[in-house]
Amino acid sequence: MIHSLYSHKDIFLRELISNASDALDKLRFEALSRPDLAPPAELEIRLVTDTGARTLSIHDNGIGMTRDEVVGNIGTIARSGTREFLRAVRERQGQAGAEHGSPTPQEPQDPQAPQAPSDMIGQFGVGFYSSFMVADRITLVTRRASETAATRWESSGDGYTLAAAERETAGTTVTLHLKPKEEEDGLKDYTDTSVLKEVVKRYSDFVSYPIRLGGDTLNSMKAIWARGKDEVTEEEHREFYKHISHDWNDPLEHISVHIEGSFEARALLYIPAKAPFDLHQRDGVHRGLQLYVKRVFIMDDWRELLPPYLRFVRGVVASDDLSLNVSREILQKDRQVQAIRKHLVRRILAALKDMKDRRPASYRTFWTEFGAVLKEGLISFEEGHEKILDLVMAPSSVSTEPVTLGDYVKRMKDGQDAIYYITATSRDAGERSPHLEALRAREREVLFFTDPIDELWLRLPREVEGKLLVSVAKSDLQVGTDEEKKRAEEARKESEESLKDVLTALRAKLQDEVKDVRLSSRLTESPACLVGDPGDLSPQMQELLRRAGQDVPKVKRVLELNPTHPIVTKLRQLHAVDTNDPRLTLYAELLYGQALLAEGGVLADPAAFSRRLTELMLQA
Ligand code: ADP
Repeated sequence: MIHSLYSHKDIFLRELISNASDALDKLRFEALSRPDLAPPAELEIRLVTDTGARTLSIHDNGIGMTRDEVVGNIGTIARSGTREFLRAVRERQGQAGAEHGSPTPQEPQDPQAPQAPSDMIGQFGVGFYSSFMVADRITLVTRRASETAATRWESSGDGYTLAAAERETAGTTVTLHLKPKEEEDGLKDYTDTSVLKEVVKRYSDFVSYPIRLGGDTLNSMKAIWARGKDEVTEEEHREFYKHISHDWNDPLEHISVHIEGSFEARALLYIPAKAPFDLHQRDGVHRGLQLYVKRVFIMDDWRELLPPYLRFVRGVVASDDLSLNVSREILQKDRQVQAIRKHLVRRILAALKDMKDRRPASYRTFWTEFGAVLKEGLISFEEGHEKILDLVMAPSSVSTEPVTLGDYVKRMKDGQDAIYYITATSRDAGERSPHLEALRAREREVLFFTDPIDELWLRLPREVEGKLLVSVAKSDLQVGTDEEKKRAEEARKESEESLKDVLTALRAKLQDEVKDVRLSSRLTESPACLVGDPGDLSPQMQELLRRAGQDVPKVKRVLELNPTHPIVTKLRQLHAVDTNDPRLTLYAELLYGQALLAEGGVLADPAAFSRRLTELMLQA
């Protein structure tokens, strides 16, 4: 399985070195408040090879793991990333098989099945397990700082063993029993010093601890964010991004930030090209933005440094002017941290705008991956809604590719004073909606908003370049020039006069379903459609909120009839002849059901609907 997925085998070493570097960070940070941990004089990562035995070991004198931690972090594949990864691989291969390791937790509900192996790796990042690309057996011996007992874990890829072990000092040693060289074409010899030198230089040069092999230190340890903006190459950015993000794809964009003034801070931020699988589980991903104070790693958690709607950003924030004595609680109140946060938000939004204006193809990629998350910013209490709105894109009735609201405004017809949109479960569903008929007839472009979040932010009045966003599924919609609107209104009044009694009769028959029956000026082909009052939640949204456990009262909508449709004429005739004609009830219920189906809705009682349909066909 793993062979076919990985094209760059070298990166197993980056993963192991990243883990070791994280473990050293953790020890140094914990030691700030716990002197008893007594970190060694020099924190380091050491590579040891044995050409004869074909082994490569990676030693670190970092925080180490307890036996329970080994089981939880490495042993059980309990970590969601690895579990999801294996699950997705199985789904792709359509094979069911036992997972490695011991008890597997419940499978989560909604992994997005990825398309290609390289995508999958990018989405999941399988870290430690990538070593099975080059090794057929892995041994890990670890001892947690402040403990005396050590643990030995060993695995050949299916299942593992655990045993008590000895280790002189705290830290972790991972030993790879490398595959025979000739087994596979193109497998480098990872016991060869020159191979290791090259791989470390390439992928791990900026790691802030020495990576040693024999007497040599292989990396320069230069903190990449402390260097001038122009001194960092694209290649270095790519590798650094992968080191901190555990992503296997190149980033879409990097942003160098230098804050000066009453205090100093630097940040190096990255916008990924691919969303991680758990991006939408708000409480899932915390990692990805590292905070360093005086070169000491403090935490890897975006929550104090970025608002949730920017949680996809990865990178490093470093300042020598913050107190080392920080915790999350302190960070929340720290004015300097708040100032940094504001600055980062401003810079990220500006960089996205720049990307949108100057690199539209990249921006579309960004939007596809992260647009739904960015839009969460439109319902947050933070400032900057205008800037976020300026970044919003959506496909439209004239473009399957998403367009910006600015593009829409540029193409608006003479006399058009609103930006028309419809919320739907997909572009196709929106396209089929009867609500679009009048707009299509007048060649107005309509945007399709298809993310669940859309209805929430669109509940507030939104304006772009002085144009209001108007839903085509709301009851007060009027399309056209002032003159056209006036004429439509007159025509409607006229029909209303002649259809008054029919409307009253229908209102009575459908009073449990809808709050009103009115005539429509938006329909040209369909006999009827359902619309909500401005501010009402759509049925899809109500359903979504209900499923999320919220108590949402049923909101009745308005049935709009097309006064020019032959069915409506027919209704009027039936009613004129006999106000008690039973067919009136039948028609009313079918019209309502049809309007519901036309917008992709669900009938409350499909069996009854189909019975009525049969009845009507028999009468015909
Ligand atoms: P990731 O690094 O993406 O979390 P891994 O599978 O590489 O995934 O590692 C899983 C976890 O095991 C790490 O998050 C860490 O808690 C622990 N771990 C791995 N390597 C080490 C190490 N050298 N020292 C201490 N803990 C480690």
